[in-house]
Amino acid sequence: MLFTPPRPPPGAPPVRINLYSDTQTRPTPAMKEAMMRAEVGDEQHGDDPTVHALCDRMAALMGKEAAMFLPSGTMCNVVAILTHCQKGDEVLAHETSHILHSEGGAHAALTGVQILPLRGPRGMFSAEDVRAAIRPRTRYAPPQRLLEVEQTANIGGGAVWPLAQLGAVVAVAREQGWATHMDGARLMNACVASGIAPAEMAAGFDSVWLDFTKGLGAPLGAVLCGSAEFIGEAWRWKQRLGGSMRQAGICAAACLYALDHHIERLAEDHANARALAQGLRQIPGITVEEPETNLVFFDIRGTGLSFEAFQAALRAEGVAVSGLGGRVRACTHLDVTAAMIEEALQIIRHVVSRA
Ligand SMILES: *Cc1c(COP(=O)(O)O)cnc(C)c1O
Repeated sequence: MLFTPPRPPPGAPPVRINLYSDTQTRPTPAMKEAMMRAEVGDEQHGDDPTVHALCDRMAALMGKEAAMFLPSGTMCNVVAILTHCQKGDEVLAHETSHILHSEGGAHAALTGVQILPLRGPRGMFSAEDVRAAIRPRTRYAPPQRLLEVEQTANIGGGAVWPLAQLGAVVAVAREQGWATHMDGARLMNACVASGIAPAEMAAGFDSVWLDFTKGLGAPLGAVLCGSAEFIGEAWRWKQRLGGSMRQAGICAAACLYALDHHIERLAEDHANARALAQGLRQIPGITVEEPETNLVFFDIRGTGLSFEAFQAALRAEGVAVSGLGGRVRACTHLDVTAAMIEEALQIIRHVVSRA
């Protein structure tokens, strides 16, 4: 079995409308300018001023004492779990969570924790669900150590955890003496959609991270935030995993640029997602979940097309979509305009009517 991602076949038609993922944005010319101008130093020696500027800004934004720059969101989850937990500990997380499905089994392979999947609609669970999962403290039961939530919930449909529900699950964790971790890959989408500040969303959490390579449009990087003590400990894991970098300020500059220019515009992505959902809903055979942020999930089984046939027919017209959790997923982002949404809808109408 080969795990190398396939390269596009030579002569494949270019993707004109990329709804595959919000990770596929290209850095804008202005972002590249900011990267070129970045002051840099040796990050792992604490000498990169641009990385320090990004970390200081992120710690303040999230209402935490300290922050750490890492290459990816996956590494944020792995480093956070390694820092909070010991081997054999149990992490409570939603059954659709990224740590369970999309990190290559990293937590079994590297962190040695087991993950207890919790259920609930749209990638969320309630305080009662958490309470029902509490294990007795005996030598038979795995020690429960960490509660994890995803804001927004990706496979949950890009759903936004309401503040009160976050507070309620965190209260159970506190009462049990567990640590709390927020996978905030798309936290800014949740904040822009709800009007709630990131520090308020992350208030009950010992650790929280934000991905700069989703809707924020940076080429790489994610920032993990927490107490000075937590980040101090996390540095050992960053070093062990090879996540300590050198002149990383070039990439931190892109993240700083994204904080200044690409947050408020997430509202456009959300409006485009709603327009896409509204158009899809009018196509016979398609069932659409109401989008809350920039992810639109829909079911095409009523059209008589398989997912593969649907995806290939769209791809032949230059439109890319993905499949996730048995549904089609279309993401809006920086490189998708309202006009592209109209055009994608036209193409989808045509593909479905031909079927
Ligand atoms: C993308 C994503 C991650 C992982 O981030 P990478 O930067 O791709 O490693 C983790 N959690 C969620 C919810 C995500 O969507």
